[in-house]
Amino acid sequence: MRPVFPILIIGFVGFLSTWQVNAQTGIAISTSESVERSVRTVPCENDKRAEAVRELFKQVGATDEQIKNVELNKGKITNIVVRKEGRTKETIIVGAHYDKVGPGCGAIDNWTGISIIAHIFKSLTSIETNRSYIFVAFDKEELGLKGSAAMVKAMSKEEIAATCAMANFDSFGQSIPSIFRNVSSPKLTELAVDLFADTDLKLKATRIDNASTDSASFMSKKIPSISLTGLGSDRLSVLHSKKDQLENTNMESVDLGYRVGLILLTKLDTVPCQDLR
Ligand SMILES: [Zn+2]
Repeated sequence: MRPVFPILIIGFVGFLSTWQVNAQTGIAISTSESVERSVRTVPCENDKRAEAVRELFKQVGATDEQIKNVELNKGKITNIVVRKEGRTKETIIVGAHYDKVGPGCGAIDNWTGISIIAHIFKSLTSIETNRSYIFVAFDKEELGLKGSAAMVKAMSKEEIAATCAMANFDSFGQSIPSIFRNVSSPKLTELAVDLFADTDLKLKATRIDNASTDSASFMSKKIPSISLTGLGSDRLSVLHSKKDQLENTNMESVDLGYRVGLILLTKLDTVPCQDLR
């Protein structure tokens, strides 16, 4: 299994192309350039972001019918949901919040995560998967995880039982990806660390105190969950400040977030669900 990882992580530099097919796996892999183009579509105004999420998913191949606005809490919450069907009823949720807070543009927090899940959607729809994947752009994370909390609250017992895992992407653009340990389940964290242990990229699990993100809502229902982030030591001076701009976004960090996320999610397609619980 190991040789696949360096091939996925390195390479795929294509001129004028938006993706290339990995010869071993048949997965369409987005080029770094096309991931960067998606990050650059960020609208800095909150009220334009829901429409921009829909546009981004259309650019990576989703149809209008596939992209659903799910209104919750009497219309106060609008999560944007795109499904990719698999062979079984078991599901994996892939999420990122699209709202922003503060005087900055919200490029790092969290248009980077939105761009990453859009490209993971593109890659996973290029292959057949065992599990169905539900991609969710969450509303109002910054106001207290409201979009993800509303989604979890609306899930039936059967839907919760059928959910194998939840992977959340929040704030890339500063450093190599790491696991946001305090909002990730221990077993899923261990699996992710092990998955990259033999590669050049060591995926570390780090506590970020006094912070939370949408995976916490799913953990509260005992759904195995993990949050990946690409924040560095400079995070406190950038997040929710006017420095959260495209020009301060390291695109390699976002691209790596996409690749690491894709490797983790393809692995999660094959792991027995009970092994994660
Ligand atoms: Zn965030």
